[in-house]
Amino acid sequence: MLAEMSGCPKSPRIVPFRGEYLLLDPKKAKLIKTNIYPVPDPRFPFLGVHFTPRMNGDVWLGPNAVLAFKREGYKWTDVNIKELMDALSYPGFLKLAIKFASAGIYEIAKSVYTPWQVKELQKFMPSLTTADVKSGPAGVRAQALDNNGNLVDDFYFDMNKGEKGTAVGDRVLHCRNAPSPGATSSLAIAKMMADKLETEFSLK
Ligand SMILES: Cc1cc2nc3c(=O)[nH]c(=O)nc-3n(C[C@H](O)[C@H](O)[C@H](O)COP(=O)(O)OP(=O)(O)OC[C@H]3O[C@@H](n4cnc5c(N)ncnc54)[C@H](O)[C@@H]3O)c2cc1C
Repeated sequence: MLAEMSGCPKSPRIVPFRGEYLLLDPKKAKLIKTNIYPVPDPRFPFLGVHFTPRMNGDVWLGPNAVLAFKREGYKWTDVNIKELMDALSYPGFLKLAIKFASAGIYEIAKSVYTPWQVKELQKFMPSLTTADVKSGPAGVRAQALDNNGNLVDDFYFDMNKGEKGTAVGDRVLHCRNAPSPGATSSLAIAKMMADKLETEFSLK
């Protein structure tokens, strides 16, 4: 929205996708000594379910990827009609929903029926059972989606190129997409932003 207000095109748009985690029973936590990741599905910018041992000894399992009904929608009951309609009426989202209908429905099913999520996790830890997990925290990814229904899987920098010039817009550089793994890449993102600022605004 800010990018649009400062003269950038409408696309890509941010659509919020929630990622929900399960928590591993502390009695089994010692079995997970390191991060365990799947080979990612190149069709999606999300990594897929993984095992994350945390500093306090907890082990997080997940996340899934379901549409959040609110930009800060950390659970199914968090709904904002305006934000939800904004996502649902975006042609890019409709194209994505049609293209990946079965994958999307499976993600929702795994969210509401834990044994299916556990089945995915058993590929990495066959002894895992539904009794070993309980609901955990969730996060919301601000995922950029283009007009053609593609999940933007790279960093996306944008600035007003003068077509719809606004005085402020000419001096703003946006990072409109920071895909996974955002935290791990944070220093590289900062460097890229600093380099882009130098070239775009002739600061050197
Ligand atoms: C499901 C999921 C899985 C992810 N997995 C990975 C991964 O495996 N590896 C990886 O590298 N990255 C991952 N990420 C991305 C990573 O979490 C983010 O890139 C990173 O947390 C961004 O850091 P940040 O400090 O910019 O923002 P945040 O971590 O969001 O921190 C912003 C903070 O500001 C606070 N805040 C917001 N507004 C206000 C206000 N008005 N006043 C006061 N405080 C405010 C918020 O409460 C929050 O604590 C994942 C994200 C999600 C959602």
